[in-house]
Amino acid sequence: MALLEINELSVQFGEFKAVDRISYQVEQGQVVGIVGESGSGKSVSSLAIMGLIDLPGKVNAHALHFDGRNLKTISAKERRKIVGADVAMIFQDPMTSLNPCFTVGYQIIEALKIHQGGSKKALKLRAIELLNCVGIPDAENRLNVYPHQLSGGMSQRVMIAIAIACNPKLLIADEPTTALDVTIQGQIIELLLNLQREKNMALVLITHDLALVSEAADKIIVMYAGQVVEVGSADQIFKLPRHPYTQALLRSLPEFTQDKARLDSLPGVVPGKYDRPVGCLLNPRCLYANDKCKTQEPMRQDDGQGRQVKCHYPLNDEGKPRYE
Ligand code: SF4
Ligand code: MG
Repeated sequence: MALLEINELSVQFGEFKAVDRISYQVEQGQVVGIVGESGSGKSVSSLAIMGLIDLPGKVNAHALHFDGRNLKTISAKERRKIVGADVAMIFQDPMTSLNPCFTVGYQIIEALKIHQGGSKKALKLRAIELLNCVGIPDAENRLNVYPHQLSGGMSQRVMIAIAIACNPKLLIADEPTTALDVTIQGQIIELLLNLQREKNMALVLITHDLALVSEAADKIIVMYAGQVVEVGSADQIFKLPRHPYTQALLRSLPEFTQDKARLDSLPGVVPGKYDRPVGCLLNPRCLYANDKCKTQEPMRQDDGQGRQVKCHYPLNDEGKPRYE
């Protein structure tokens, strides 16, 4: 059984579907990349899994299972036990996630206390161990510093220490490097992947940067306007994208853009609350859209080899649409 099983999850704010019937699984110890431009519903779908959507947001799902438990039917109390312990999340901006009024040590120890007990001394030792684990030198002294005394990269390491404090089975990292310098970004991704391997923890890496997940991810989920448009292995997605949106994302990567004309392969922006098109949501921006795309929503097609594509005309091996 998959560690996380999501079936037809939707998140709605009034009439607006921020997440629109998405389905995917995460296996134990797997690295999954969720990619898409901003506004594609990547973060909102993860917050829904964590139970962090506030009213008036409405969450619906056919199934939402984690580690054999049905997140839809368990009590709020049980859910709180799971969230933060078995499933943990880190966010884009570590500076806003840490409380500026408390020392690093205090915040790590508080996180430990919520889910596991122990003497003061044991908690402190565990906090030092965690800081060592995320590559923070001079850990014992660092316990006494305040967040503003740390660089962005160091703050994100502290957030990761807090996230892994209870040995989660799943860590969701939402744009974990977007707020950081380019040189630090690689180090943070490497740290996350090392922890994932050491602890055999599943890692969901949410990013707008397809290049970031190209080497790391076992599976890639491409989202557009609240929907999952393609799922496949990194190999499948990078060699032969089947969805026009995935193809356009790939073409916008530096190594694919020797052909400058192709930088414009995806004009426009993700539709918002008031401009959701009829038919396929990509049709106003899609190079290959025809009349059917403008009137009928494409169904998800499964090739039986782990690849799913939500398009009327999935691309062939030459990268051209297969019109009927
Ligand atoms: Fe493009 Fe049509 Fe496929 Fe949508 S269904 S991605 S508009 S070809
Ligand atoms: Mg986001």
